[in-house]
Amino acid sequence: MSGLTVSFEIFPPKTDAAWATLRPAMQRLAAYNPAFVSVTYGAGGSSRPATLETLQWLKRETDLPVGGHLTCVDVSRKDTDDVVRAYADLGINHIVALRGDPAEGPGADYKAHPEGYQSTADLIRGIRDIGDFEVSVSAYPEKHPHSPDFETDLDVLAAKVDAGATRAITQFFFENDTFYRYRDRVAARGIDVDIVPGILPIGSFRQVTNFAARCNSHIPARLFERFDGLDDDPELHRLVAAAVAAEQVDNLAANGVSEFHFYTLNRAELTIACCRMLGCHPANGEGQAA
Ligand SMILES: Cc1cc2nc3c(=O)[nH]c(=O)nc-3n(C[C@H](O)[C@H](O)[C@H](O)COP(=O)(O)OP(=O)(O)OC[C@H]3O[C@@H](n4cnc5c(N)ncnc54)[C@H](O)[C@@H]3O)c2cc1C
Repeated sequence: MSGLTVSFEIFPPKTDAAWATLRPAMQRLAAYNPAFVSVTYGAGGSSRPATLETLQWLKRETDLPVGGHLTCVDVSRKDTDDVVRAYADLGINHIVALRGDPAEGPGADYKAHPEGYQSTADLIRGIRDIGDFEVSVSAYPEKHPHSPDFETDLDVLAAKVDAGATRAITQFFFENDTFYRYRDRVAARGIDVDIVPGILPIGSFRQVTNFAARCNSHIPARLFERFDGLDDDPELHRLVAAAVAAEQVDNLAANGVSEFHFYTLNRAELTIACCRMLGCHPANGEGQAA
């Protein structure tokens, strides 16, 4: 191992076919000794059973550290606390604590549930009242789309860290300079938290442009050029995507980044290519998940 650590994010599969994709992918990813694997949570509790099922599966089939995402939007404090206790019952002691987007969509104004947690910082305090959880949170190098300015974004991050978060995982980005500027801003503001870049390997450039439009992530012109005309050429698309992701993580590592979080979208290949570029090698050839 290179001294660098990696973590992987997956989402709960909704169909048998999606499970059939995730199982072998997880088996391959597990061999790269992630610091943790986290499972996303549908805002408003929409994926609660599926997230719990996926966490249960990871706990049963692997010996990897596992983290559960949790949002507090649109639900009461009692319902949110029930999920925290369900995580604890599964032996999960790491929560990625989030506010989440309102049911009307990411563009809608956020209003806290009248009986719910009022903010992510409030949620973190609630989680830590229930048990001794490690808490990770989100961070936005290009600022959150709803944030009026960077100062507000940093205020929110500082409040989350004051409430007990120890790791901030960024929204995906494609310009590393944006990440470096953000890291400097966080440090200048005196916020003491690990800022871990969230890396989105480009499995489908078309899909990534849709994601990016929703969360205000800038896609540089050079990426449009590199993927131009590759929608119907999966082989070449994969080669270019691997080169782009490798270039990004290589530059981050050269600039002092030692922790990487991969949005795997339940696929292994591009994330593994990045791990290998970072000098991480499989602990064994087998993986651990069934
Ligand atoms: C690593 C990561 C994992 C994620 N996982 C999930 C998931 O599993 N499920 C899911 O549904 N979504 C997930 N999201 C998306 C997230 O839910 C959305 O981006 C959502 O819009 C904000 O939630 P948050 O926890 O980031 O909000 P926060 O960090 O609490 O706030 C986001 C921004 O809103 C603004 N803001 C918040 N409070 C105030 C205030 N009081 N006054 C002014 N401005 C304010 C600030 O600009 C702040 O930076 C994830 C995002 C990231 C980066």
